[in-house]
Amino acid sequence: MADNGKTEVVTRFAPSPTGFLHIGGARTALFNYLFARRHGGRFLLRIEDTDRERSTPEAVAAIIDGLTWLGIHWEGEPVSQFARAERHREVAFELLARGMAYKCFVTPEELAAAREAARREGRPWRFESPWRDAGPADHPDDRPFVIRLKAPREGETVIEDRVQGTVRVANAELDDMVLLRSDGTPTYMLAVVVDDHDMGITHVIRGDDHLTNAFRQIQIFHAMGWKPPIYAHIPLIHGPDGRKLSKRHGALGIEAYRDMGYLPEALRNYLLRLGWGHGDIEIISTEEAAKIFALEDIGKGPARFDFQKLDAFNAHYLRALDDDELLRRAMPFFSRQAGRALTEDELRRLRAAMPGLKARAKTLKDLAESAAFLYTARPIPIAADAAGLLTDEARRHLRELAGELAAVDPAAWDETTLERVVNAFVERAGLRLKAIAQPLRVALTGRRVSPGIFEVLAVLGKDEALARIADVTQAGSRPDAPGRRADQK
Ligand code: GLU
Repeated sequence: MADNGKTEVVTRFAPSPTGFLHIGGARTALFNYLFARRHGGRFLLRIEDTDRERSTPEAVAAIIDGLTWLGIHWEGEPVSQFARAERHREVAFELLARGMAYKCFVTPEELAAAREAARREGRPWRFESPWRDAGPADHPDDRPFVIRLKAPREGETVIEDRVQGTVRVANAELDDMVLLRSDGTPTYMLAVVVDDHDMGITHVIRGDDHLTNAFRQIQIFHAMGWKPPIYAHIPLIHGPDGRKLSKRHGALGIEAYRDMGYLPEALRNYLLRLGWGHGDIEIISTEEAAKIFALEDIGKGPARFDFQKLDAFNAHYLRALDDDELLRRAMPFFSRQAGRALTEDELRRLRAAMPGLKARAKTLKDLAESAAFLYTARPIPIAADAAGLLTDEARRHLRELAGELAAVDPAAWDETTLERVVNAFVERAGLRLKAIAQPLRVALTGRRVSPGIFEVLAVLGKDEALARIADVTQAGSRPDAPGRRADQK
């Protein structure tokens, strides 16, 4: 049972469509989702689409797609706040009928003049409508009006916030907020309260930038005689330097994380730990989290977004994936990297290289970049900082080594055999392994860094490996070799 006396926990995520689902919103959604699951309740989605300019179908789709990719599932159809305007209006008039709200005929010009006068006289500005206590008999019948809440003047409004603790404000500090504008459109404050009530929301978990709104929202709940939800206002996410989160810090849409090659399960785990902690748990699956997620474990200080930590989580989840699954998930990155779909042969090589590749990659994008040598057509481009390793002497050694490798039975072309053959060659030639391993790496991958050299030899296969070595060792006799330089594509 939920702790506010209602039988079922119902939470919601209520984003305003701005064109993307940002990282802070994603964390809010996750917390609401986990809290509902923890209590066997329901998690709903409400799109706060009353700003008609910004609420385009694309902006709404960005939220839906973002949540879907992240694996945060809501129940039922998303609720459109805009579509419920008639119901919001109805409640404004009900408050009027109950004497909890009043019609205010003060014009915007009068309001601006009063505000300006207060400023000139150095008085703190707090609007008091002359219409607050006027009866219908006093009302002009031909002038536009707004409906304002007749907010209590005495006492205080108190929130027992589950993260912030007890927060209170003197009612004298809150003016009579507008519920319905003169054009008949409901205000945001009214819409949120009516929607939260009608959707049966028991717990509102959201960013603490909404804490001041909560005071006003509670006043509307009280005026209607409705029970307010339990509030939990979570500290916002800051950058690693403690400053407000900026684009550079990671204040990006969730799709940017997808495109950078983060896995949704890693991002979920990271977002969970960003502001929530339970003992010294770091790695925790969403399933496990749904069993223990409690509001008490949400931190009271701002969480700091840190790409390095996210990378560490991602690397962990990446390594935990089964090779076939990883190959499937990384496919769009491979195709993007290659600029085409991969051939069967290349896929086979990739699959074989997966254990070595995934041990090093932090993201799917990394993985595709470090695997590029597997599906680059010969002659492979040699990176500018690697070309220097192919000295005349190194080429001579490579040519000799190629002779040894050519003798290996293709059926025995595996890491163990190759390691043995290369080591024997190195010993015989009186070289250090590095003296041959580095040029060999450059010949095979075009780079100074790659998975282990025996693994690279093995996954490329005998023909391809020997052909790549030949491409660089025969350079002297081929004016266009060794391959294109990477920076001369
Ligand atoms: N629509 C608001 C936002 O995107 C959230 C409102 C709420 O959670 O009550 O910030």
